[in-house]
Amino acid sequence: MKVAVVGGGISGLAAAWRLRGAGCEVVLLEADPCHGGKVRSEAVDGYLVEHGPNGFLDSRRQVLELARDAGLGARITQADLAAARRYLYLDGALKEAPHGPASFLAGSLLSARGKARMLAEPFVRARRSTEDESVLDFATRRIGREAAERLVDPMVTGIFAGDTSRLSLRAAFPRLHRLEQDHGGLMRGMVAMMRARKAGLDSASGPAGTLTSFPGGLGELIVALASGLGQAAHTARPVRALERIGHRWRVRAAGGEPIEADAVVLATPTDVTARLVASVAPGAVGPLEDIRYAPAAVVALGFPVGGLPRPLDGFGYLVPSGERRRVLGVLWSSTIFPGRAPAGHALIRTIVGGARHPELLDLDDEALIEVVVTELSVTMGGALPAPVFARVVRWPQGIPQYELGHLDRVAAAEAALRPTGGLHLAGNGLYGVSLADCVARADALPAIVLHTD
Ligand SMILES: Cc1cc2nc3c(=O)[nH]c(=O)nc-3n(C[C@H](O)[C@H](O)[C@H](O)COP(=O)(O)OP(=O)(O)OC[C@H]3O[C@@H](n4cnc5c(N)ncnc54)[C@H](O)[C@@H]3O)c2cc1C
Repeated sequence: MKVAVVGGGISGLAAAWRLRGAGCEVVLLEADPCHGGKVRSEAVDGYLVEHGPNGFLDSRRQVLELARDAGLGARITQADLAAARRYLYLDGALKEAPHGPASFLAGSLLSARGKARMLAEPFVRARRSTEDESVLDFATRRIGREAAERLVDPMVTGIFAGDTSRLSLRAAFPRLHRLEQDHGGLMRGMVAMMRARKAGLDSASGPAGTLTSFPGGLGELIVALASGLGQAAHTARPVRALERIGHRWRVRAAGGEPIEADAVVLATPTDVTARLVASVAPGAVGPLEDIRYAPAAVVALGFPVGGLPRPLDGFGYLVPSGERRRVLGVLWSSTIFPGRAPAGHALIRTIVGGARHPELLDLDDEALIEVVVTELSVTMGGALPAPVFARVVRWPQGIPQYELGHLDRVAAAEAALRPTGGLHLAGNGLYGVSLADCVARADALPAIVLHTD
């Protein structure tokens, strides 16, 4: 079977890799001059800047397995132990995130009342309604408003750069949804999972894990996959149209002859996917177009270590919306992965924009850098010097927002495509926003495409 894969981000590359591994002939068509999509690692002036994702969690096996298959087993690199400490910016200061229940109870992240409410979680009855629920409503119901706003909001910002009142719990955090459905609550569910893991019954870890990458950044994985696919992986070939020709598909892409294939995997952002399927599955267009993306900008700044107002003694920090700051999260990149800044210098990577401040992406680089330096000075507790290195990356369509009704939209798009026979969906707009989710979808595709599922 010949399969055309459209889109050469991690979703498309992993899909092509897995389909070829299952015996398919594949051809991958990427619009840009290079593969990778949001995954891009740039080495410049002694700094290593990640344009998009910073790493993946080793608690989910998918990316690790793919990296090993692509020959990168020996290059897998875990975040430095010095990055184990994480902070939250709360009440105008950086506060260390607790490592466990004891430090949580002793710490000042929540008021005594907020802690008591959170500890009552096991006694909150499970919700049985099948109606979609927002992340904010779920968190407020289970652990109380204070914990929802001070702890869950920044965690959601760190992943979705999104608005907890609009995101769907079961689409955005399916594991948390299942913990309540299967075990009656979060604490009960976590205890059950820990027991199962100890007994060797459940090898799937929870969301915890260690951030993992490669010495040259995540771009190493892209290069390894693209070069492993060799002649099958094309760049600068934006797909313009799909046509049904008998039982096969004709894929028209700029920069070369049309390609005929038995099946097509669309690993493109959902608005592009909507355009491509409009003539063959018009019913999929609405649901795909309704999936919104939050814009995000990455501002990577280099500073002499001596000029910083505090030690970069951890992973970095997240900022809850209640603090009303203009940054979403700050990663102390050269602490997480030492060697990503020249000697005596530090690399700080700040994410701005998101659902909270989309307008910040309209600022020019100079103004955006100024905003970030000001915000870093406030949040890190002292004035920062002018950066000696700066790189700004804008992602107008940064992170898909799995808003209420997301799973219905995915189901509707899939249902509309089913009768076409041979058109399949992938990509972080639909099946999970992390790299591990993208690769998990790719792992599932051979069975779907070859009808062996
Ligand atoms: C700032 C930021 C930080 C992030 N941090 C993390 C993190 O730390 N950990 C993590 O797990 N995830 C993170 N993510 C999410 C992660 O980057 C994405 O989930 C993942 O890279 C998406 O891959 P994808 O292949 O689905 O989509 P994309 O990377 O968007 O790839 C889609 C591809 O389709 C191509 N394309 C578009 N139109 C066409 C066409 N007509 N024809 C052919 N090709 C086309 C595009 O050029 C692109 O290459 C982050 C994302 C952002 C933006």
